[in-house]
Amino acid sequence: MPEPGWKLAFYGLTFLSLAVMAWQFVGPARHWMKGKPIGWKPDYVAGVMRYILGQRKVQGSRPKDGAPLHLMIFYGFLSLFVATTLLAIATYGPLIGLPNFHRGLYYLVYETVFDVLGLFFVAGVVWAFVRRWRNDRLHGQPPLDAETGKPVFSRNPLTSEAKDYVTLLILFMLGVTGYVIEAARIANSPQEWDWASPVGLALSRLTPGLSDQAYVGLWWFHAAWAWAFFAFLPQMRLKHIVTATLTAAGSPEQKMGELLPIRMEEVERTGQIGVAQATDYSRWHLLSLDACMSCGRCTEVCPAYNVGKVLNPKQVVADVHRALVTGDGVAASVSEEALWACTTCNACVEACPVLIRHVDIIVDARRNLVAEGKLSGTPTVMLRQVAASGNAWGAPSSNREDWMKGLDVPLCRDGVEFDVLLWVGCAGATDPGAVRTTKAVATLLKKAGVKFACLGQEEACTGDPARRTGDEFLFQEQAGKNVHVFEKYGVTKVVTPCPHCFNTFKNEYHQFGGRLEVVHHTQFLNELVQQGRLEPATPEPGKVAYHDPCYLARVNGVSDAPRALVGDRTHFDTDEPAVVHALTREPDDPRRLAEPVQHAQKTLCCGAGGGRMWFDEEPGKRPSERRVRQLLDTGAKQIAVACPFCRIMLDASVKQATDEDVRLVDLAEMLLDSNR
Ligand code: SF4
Ligand code: SF4
Repeated sequence: MPEPGWKLAFYGLTFLSLAVMAWQFVGPARHWMKGKPIGWKPDYVAGVMRYILGQRKVQGSRPKDGAPLHLMIFYGFLSLFVATTLLAIATYGPLIGLPNFHRGLYYLVYETVFDVLGLFFVAGVVWAFVRRWRNDRLHGQPPLDAETGKPVFSRNPLTSEAKDYVTLLILFMLGVTGYVIEAARIANSPQEWDWASPVGLALSRLTPGLSDQAYVGLWWFHAAWAWAFFAFLPQMRLKHIVTATLTAAGSPEQKMGELLPIRMEEVERTGQIGVAQATDYSRWHLLSLDACMSCGRCTEVCPAYNVGKVLNPKQVVADVHRALVTGDGVAASVSEEALWACTTCNACVEACPVLIRHVDIIVDARRNLVAEGKLSGTPTVMLRQVAASGNAWGAPSSNREDWMKGLDVPLCRDGVEFDVLLWVGCAGATDPGAVRTTKAVATLLKKAGVKFACLGQEEACTGDPARRTGDEFLFQEQAGKNVHVFEKYGVTKVVTPCPHCFNTFKNEYHQFGGRLEVVHHTQFLNELVQQGRLEPATPEPGKVAYHDPCYLARVNGVSDAPRALVGDRTHFDTDEPAVVHALTREPDDPRRLAEPVQHAQKTLCCGAGGGRMWFDEEPGKRPSERRVRQLLDTGAKQIAVACPFCRIMLDASVKQATDEDVRLVDLAEMLLDSNR
């Protein structure tokens, strides 16, 4: 440390660089505070522990080498921060009566641990530089926008701007100059405990002894990089150190598959439904926009983007952020076509390392478009049908019992005693393919001796397609009606073959007083198989490929039970990100299902969610076509599904994709084949 006179200069400049950093966050913070007050009580400590210190979202990120290098840089940087803080406490603690603990065994451990961890930091930075540089050489710099002169977004998350290299240079210089100072100190005045700093010691062998002046100059040079780091932080992608930490600390309890309700009082107060201006979003959502580091992982996994639609979730985040800064309306900043293209599959939400909830952002904007009468065509027909008949397909409620003919299905209105309600869903009662699933489930429940009942004509659409299309109040009407029927019959447990109904009951009906235990039919049937009440299905290994529905596997973490149902014991830790790459299996692997390249939580959307089932799709731009290619690439001759929506979408695309006889069946039908 320099002489006392210089100390003042050092602290002054450090304070100045921190003030410059803080000042640059004031403007964004003012924008965040224009949002609606946050209506939830976050667990600040848990959010930071889980997502920042635990790096939970980074660990499953793509591409695969991105995660380890981020972990090296993050934990290396954190260790340097901790080391500096401990040193400051040890140095200044005695001024307030604390003992100087920077000695003895503690000192040796301190030196060794942080000396080695710092090396991880430098190695991670070098790795990041090489990766970025190689990528830019391979793919070039992103093109510049003709109007703004700024780089336009690219699908490639690595395409760089000059400031990305400046960031890496600052980090590199911070790490390396720290080591050089240590090496110079060892070269100048070696101590017997220098072995505890292996990196500094090794480097000292290469470093000539320095004059006192050169040493002090080096020290100031190191400090200058630290000041540059603070002062430029808000201008770099690295600003997410601050914004992502705040986002994680305030992250909502809200589940991935949950949309928050609009309350009528709110509409009466504001005279508006949904989001028209960016400031209509919550403060947390606005803050999260500033955490975006343009990594492109959301875009990379977006099924709509990947079939050539205009939707680009990274661009949506940037456009809404721009709308916040400029004060333009959201609809003027984000194209309506992009907003309608979303399937609400949540792949972007799952992939985003900084917890941005793109689906909330998109659906809130849709709500306003619907209220303003800007939705037209077939989806409006669906909304009218839900309102008129309680069936998204428009069938009258009297048809809800057609599938039961010859099955002697118990009905709640007949006063039967039941343990579980079989909730069929609109598709399950109407669509011919989905009806086969419904019949199979009912037959299996009877065979296993389960005391169940159905609502029949008293069942009505959960409202899921209405909510995700943006008609929030139609959804609320449906939810209110259904909760009332559940209360009337004392329903406490529901089994359903529809992952959309499953998600809505599980994650959203509590907003309207519906407290239910809800299980998907694959979970329920699997329990019966495990209890020995049903025989498992035994498909020939590798001949059946299973398609994980988004609202089952990604949104609700159910991916083991559907596999176990057919004797496949593959386990996906639902609390951890699933692997992205294809599973490799030995020829004698007893697992039975062929896995497409995207599976479990990383599954690829069929394109039906978010009301997209009712939108006209241009051939060649259907997510289901891409998904079918993945499924057929496994070499399987049969595709197993567990969702009526997926069944409808994939069925149409299978017929277009191949002339071969590829059968599409629900897992319940496969199980029924083994239990006849
Ligand atoms: S939810 Fe799915 S379709 Fe919508 S933006 Fe995200 S990844 Fe794309
Ligand atoms: S929204 Fe998230 S995933 Fe998408 S570019 Fe921004 S940080 Fe990356």
